[in-house]
Amino acid sequence: MTNSNSHVLIIPYPAQGHVIPVMELAQRIIKQGVKVTFVNTEVTHKLVTTNWLDENGYGDLMQMVSIPDGLEPWEDRSDVGKLTLSVFQTMSNKLEQLIETINNKVNNKITCLVADACMGWAIQVAHKMGIRNATFSPASTTTLAAIFCFQKLIDDRIINENGVPLKEDMIKLSENMPPIKSANLSWTCFKEVETIEAIFKMCVGAKEAYDITERFICNSAIELEPAAFGLYPKLLPIGPLLASNRLGYQAGHFWQEDPSCLTWLDQQAEMSVIYIAFGSFTILNHTQFEELALALELSNKPFLWVVRPGLTKECAPSYPKGYMDRVGSRGRIVSWAPQQKVLSHPSVACFMSHCGWNSTLEGVRNGLPFLCWPYFGDQFHNETYICDIWKIGLGFKKNEAGIITRGEINDKVEQLLSDKTFRDKALVIKENVTKTVRDGGQSYKNLSNFISWLQEAVDAKDEPHVSIEHEDPKHPIVRV
Ligand code: UDP
Repeated sequence: MTNSNSHVLIIPYPAQGHVIPVMELAQRIIKQGVKVTFVNTEVTHKLVTTNWLDENGYGDLMQMVSIPDGLEPWEDRSDVGKLTLSVFQTMSNKLEQLIETINNKVNNKITCLVADACMGWAIQVAHKMGIRNATFSPASTTTLAAIFCFQKLIDDRIINENGVPLKEDMIKLSENMPPIKSANLSWTCFKEVETIEAIFKMCVGAKEAYDITERFICNSAIELEPAAFGLYPKLLPIGPLLASNRLGYQAGHFWQEDPSCLTWLDQQAEMSVIYIAFGSFTILNHTQFEELALALELSNKPFLWVVRPGLTKECAPSYPKGYMDRVGSRGRIVSWAPQQKVLSHPSVACFMSHCGWNSTLEGVRNGLPFLCWPYFGDQFHNETYICDIWKIGLGFKKNEAGIITRGEINDKVEQLLSDKTFRDKALVIKENVTKTVRDGGQSYKNLSNFISWLQEAVDAKDEPHVSIEHEDPKHPIVRV
């Protein structure tokens, strides 16, 4: 199967929730003997290589390179509008130059380019240069389907031509899918108009990539979102792509993982620990942070809490007076956890999560019930899937001041952990997603076919018509 002539260039959007799954895809490709050049921005390259664990043994097959994102070193990359616009305006030329440089070396030609759906412009570069190409979506397919219907939203005057909301509405993509609030679309969830317009541009780019790309693969499973896949049969589920599926190490972290929490977990009773983590973007205000801290203290349960740098607006989060002493060894706080390992630990009882798609997949893959604390955008649709479709979790209600109180948190913890049906349902879904990534499963077949396609060193011009393996007779195709 190994084809030494194949050389895949892979490019993720420069954010944590993108780099980790795209890196996972790269590892699957390398495992089949295909050479990969992984292109980060200079900033993410530095973060990823600083926190690199070389237990994966990539050898010569993996090459990590970087190109500038167009911002000055001191500029704020958490301003996603500014970052996205800069990436859009500057990276396409740089990518072209990089490919030319790589191709000028003997026996090193890029045979395929795989771009994150949020980097749709890279597919245009591949087209221009005559390179075979594929697009990868690290987000849920429901999110993608909602993005793809942007023209209908413009026609219905829900958004203007630049993506800015004109009115509040509920968007129903198909009979089999829960409605989505127009305020929770990937681009409408931002406050500033400039950010909305920049992210909208990126979303339009994802749809343009969909229209021209040769393969479009998604980090999801038909078992999780059958109706969304029914809407766009060109989208191929290949997930969940997780390190645990191949018994390997996860790579691509921006922060250093603290493995000591695994030893702490070893000392806790089975299914006793609440694991709390809000991904790489969520920011809590001081009142909310304190309320959560006090709720965990009041719960009387062991907890492992990721307090990432930047989780609170203050430079250093301030805990209630005497908090650490009162909580003692019952609580463990780390700044970044080896999350996939934590979630597969038998001591973990439930996952309090912001419902980022990666975290959602990781919890689901481990059969865990969720306490949902979405922060923005697609995290609200993911919460709907967790609570209303899969029925494996509970959401929180905010009070009049917009705060989730300690009382509310504790009520929901009690409710979730005292009702076995949440875990039972989570275990059924775990079984389904485990089957789909194992030999014979739909995601497994799609990923194997995709890697075989990458290995075919054929000229793009001779490419036969794309054949799509996709079926779900229970859910007919409904177009918006
Ligand atoms: N993550 C981690 N350690 C942590 C918190 C998060 O390794 O302490 C990983 C998590 O496993 C996931 C990613 O960071 O793969 C976060 O992606 P997600 O889509 O859940 O959220 P985002 O950061 O994009 O909001």
